[in-house]
Amino acid sequence: MIRFHNTLSRALEEFRPLRPPAVLMYNCGPTVYSSQHIGNFRSYVFTDLLRRYLDFRGFDVTQVMNITDVGHLRDEVHDAGEDKLEAAARREKLDPWELAAKYTQEFFDGLDLLNIRRAHHYPKATEHVAEMIEIIAGLVARGHAYVVDGEVYFDVTSFDRYGALSGNVAGGLMDGASERVAHEVLGRKRHARDFALWKSDPLHLMQWDSPWGRGFPGWHIECSAMSRKYLGDTLDIHTGGENNIFPHHECEIAQSEAFTGQPFVRFWLHAAHLNLEGEKMAKSEGNILLPRDLVAEGHKPAAIRYYLLSVHYRQPMNFTREALKGAASAVERIANFVESLEHRAERGPDTPLSPAAVAPLEQARRGFTSALDNDLNVSEGLAVLFDAMRRLNALELGRADAQAALEAFRDMDEVLGILPRERVTLEQEIEALIAEREAARGNKDFAAADRIRDSLLARGIVLMDTPEGVRWRRK
Ligand SMILES: [Zn+2]
Repeated sequence: MIRFHNTLSRALEEFRPLRPPAVLMYNCGPTVYSSQHIGNFRSYVFTDLLRRYLDFRGFDVTQVMNITDVGHLRDEVHDAGEDKLEAAARREKLDPWELAAKYTQEFFDGLDLLNIRRAHHYPKATEHVAEMIEIIAGLVARGHAYVVDGEVYFDVTSFDRYGALSGNVAGGLMDGASERVAHEVLGRKRHARDFALWKSDPLHLMQWDSPWGRGFPGWHIECSAMSRKYLGDTLDIHTGGENNIFPHHECEIAQSEAFTGQPFVRFWLHAAHLNLEGEKMAKSEGNILLPRDLVAEGHKPAAIRYYLLSVHYRQPMNFTREALKGAASAVERIANFVESLEHRAERGPDTPLSPAAVAPLEQARRGFTSALDNDLNVSEGLAVLFDAMRRLNALELGRADAQAALEAFRDMDEVLGILPRERVTLEQEIEALIAEREAARGNKDFAAADRIRDSLLARGIVLMDTPEGVRWRRK
């Protein structure tokens, strides 16, 4: 049984998708106005672990991560200040589109560096303005939003559940303040917590036509519109950094549910923040660390990935170079062990599979799965893996033993993604065997087709003949 901590209930809940084996997952992605630092990448490594683990457990995940390239204002709580993109573009003397393209590419390079599996869609906000306008117009028509001077705001008093995710229910800055103070802070809003769906600003460089005049979308509406377009009204999982809980995710829920009348998200998962050598990372302090800076210092990408993975996603992480060295030696131990297995699988004694080798492998698979089933307890999963290494190291492994151990370790690495990558992945191997079996069946060589099916079954892979062709799942 898989359990995740759901921010909505603040409890561990059994995870079951709405329509298994499909899992619809949306991750809040980068605002592409600057380089993504290791704190941001911690969050992307977490979503990658989640995605890989759900794949490993046989789910059919559709993963969407947005690229915010307009509308993210500096003051997120009050919808005020400059658009982060436009301010950065001015600083770098680029136009905002060039700036977004530059940092989007850098973001993808970072994903590749850290062996993060690509999502199925990376929608850009600037390419989905029509979908946002559709939702905003619907919210206005239903009385959930109002128009003032070419801008549109969501009326939080029209949505009872506002505050349910973050616990920010009442008693905000403006509640109970005098009307005069209220007017100064509110500007065009009716209530302090109302938030912008559509903004107008003649100086803004990125502008679109809308029923309310030229302008640009607010940040929150982007995620509601893009998640709906690619995944539908109700998502199984939505993730983000814990700093997104309020106001961003609270606002997403209000807009989406007020528009569709359906529950928006079943499981909210949030990653905790990361400090660097005991300090908060901040551009203004000049202590921003990028993955590529660490590589330039001589650290290996696999070690960075392992380190970011190894601290549970809900624990705040203090990133230190000392601990990164520890991660590097752990990765090296695993890689060396796997290399020695490869050697033995080719040149070891040709003895049959021994029960002494099978027992720790079976325990490792079970232990690894039950650790990760428990809200992705990866440190326990890693402990299981090291324990299996110790036990196997004490044995004289033959070829069959080594081959079985290799398969087990490569399977677990489908989740961890830390072993050298030039190897064929398990998925590619399975797909190739399925194609081979199809070819055998086409030639009416049913004995060969059955052999392939049985050998996959022995590895825990079940083939299913469906109208869409052959699909596979884990036993
Ligand atoms: Zn978002």
